[in-house]
Amino acid sequence: MKNDWLPSGLLSILSGLCLAIPANATQLQSWQFNETQNQLTFSTDEPVQPRVQLVGDPTRLIIDLPGTSFQRSRIRESGEGSIRRIEIRELEDDLTRITIELEDDYTIDPQQVRVQGSNPTTWVVQLPTPQRITRRTRPSESDVVISVPAPEAELTRIDAVELSEDGRQVVIRANRAITDYSSGWDRSTATYQIRIPEAQLAAGLSSPTLPANGSLLQLRLRQDDQTVVVAVQPAAGVQIGPVSAPEQQALTLTLVGRPLRRLTQPATPPVSTLPDLDNLPNVADRRVLITIDPGHGGRDPGAVGIGNIYEKEIVLDISLQVAELLERQGARVLLTRRDDREIDLEPRVQVANRANANIFVSIHANAISMSRPDVNGVETYYYSSVAGRTLAEAIQNSMLEATNMNNRGVKEARFYVLRRTRMPAALVEVGFVTGREDAALLADPAFRQRMAAAIARGILQYVVQHL
Ligand SMILES: [Zn+2]
Repeated sequence: MKNDWLPSGLLSILSGLCLAIPANATQLQSWQFNETQNQLTFSTDEPVQPRVQLVGDPTRLIIDLPGTSFQRSRIRESGEGSIRRIEIRELEDDLTRITIELEDDYTIDPQQVRVQGSNPTTWVVQLPTPQRITRRTRPSESDVVISVPAPEAELTRIDAVELSEDGRQVVIRANRAITDYSSGWDRSTATYQIRIPEAQLAAGLSSPTLPANGSLLQLRLRQDDQTVVVAVQPAAGVQIGPVSAPEQQALTLTLVGRPLRRLTQPATPPVSTLPDLDNLPNVADRRVLITIDPGHGGRDPGAVGIGNIYEKEIVLDISLQVAELLERQGARVLLTRRDDREIDLEPRVQVANRANANIFVSIHANAISMSRPDVNGVETYYYSSVAGRTLAEAIQNSMLEATNMNNRGVKEARFYVLRRTRMPAALVEVGFVTGREDAALLADPAFRQRMAAAIARGILQYVVQHL
C-alpha cells in the first residue's frame, strides 16, 4: 500500500486519501480538514453513523466511527492557529477515532458544532471558530455529546427516460431499483405523471425527442425538490396503460391504443348520414335579443382535455359562430365575451338582465377525468322554469339530430347563470374534452361549425314556436 496520508501541500488544508483496501469492516476512505472553514469532511466505503463529543483539557472534538477500521497506524497532523493537531487512529477493533485537538487556551461552543451526513458515507463536521478561554467561555467539566442527525437518504439517480422502439412504452432507467413511485393524472397540467421520490435526474438528462404523429404529444422531465416527475401527454386516441417494473432498474409506462389523426388537421366529419343545417328559421319579425355566453376565458381555461384542447377555446369558437348564425337569421345577439378574457359569473348574468334579453344560452364543454375517455356525449341544463326546460330540450334535440353524439339528456341544475338570469336560460355542454370520441370531434373545426349550427337551430326553433 502506498502512503497517501500526507498533507495536501496547501497549508490550510490537511487531508488524506486511502485507496482500495480489501477488508470486511467499513473503511475510512478519505478525510480533509479545511482550516480556513474549520470544516472536517470524511468518507467511508460503507454507511457509518458517527458519534461526536467535546471533551476538555485540552479541548478536543472526538469523532468516533463505530464499525470502521483504519488500516494504518496513527496519523497526526499539526494544525495551524488554534487547532493544535488532528489525529486519526483505530482506537480498538473496528472503532476509528478522529480527534481534533485545540491549543491549550482555546475552546469551542459544542452547541455550534454541526455534524451532517450529505449521504450515509460522506460526513461534514463544521466547527465554530475557536474562542480563547475566558471566564465566560470556560468549558464545562464534563464531556458534551453532540447530536448527529441521521444522514440524508441517498437519492436514486434517473439515468434515462426514453420511448421504446415501437413507441408503445415510456422506459425510465435508474442506477438502482425504483421501489417507490406514484402515478396518476394531474388535472392542472392535463398530463399523466409518474413521481419518483428520493430521486434525481442524472446530470444532463433531458426529455427525449418525440416522433411526429406518435402516441405522445409531450414527455417532460422535471426535478421537483427531491422528486423526479415524468409527465406525459398522450395523443388523442391513446390511453395510459399500466406502470410496471419489468426489470430491476427500470420502470415502464405502457401506452394503449393508436393515435388519432393530428388534432390540427380537420377530421372527416361523419356527415354523410346527417341532415344538412342550411335552412335555419328566420326570426327577423320577432325582434328577439339573445345572449350567448361562452364559458370561461382568460386565466380560466375551463376543462383541459385530450390533445391539450381547452374548453375556453372550443366554446368561444362555437359561440361566435352561433352568434353569427343567429344574426344572419334576424336575431339581435349579445355575447358576454368575444375574445379570450376572464369574466366572473355575475357580469355574464348582468349583461343579459340589463339588456332585457329574451333568451340566455351559456355554452360549455364537459370534462370528467383523463382516465375516463369512455365518457362522451352532449347534455343541456335548465333551472326550474318550464320555458328554460323547453329551450334546453330544443337545443339538445337539435344537437342530437345534427351529430351522432351520445345523448346524456336534459337536466335541471342550480348553475349560477341559470338561476340568476331573468329569461329562459339553458347551459349547453357540447361534449367531453376528456372523452375519446368527443375530444376528437371538438378539436375539429368542421365539427365545431356543425355544432354551432345545431345550437343556433335549436334556439331559433324555440323562438319560432314560443316567442
Ligand atoms: Zn365549463
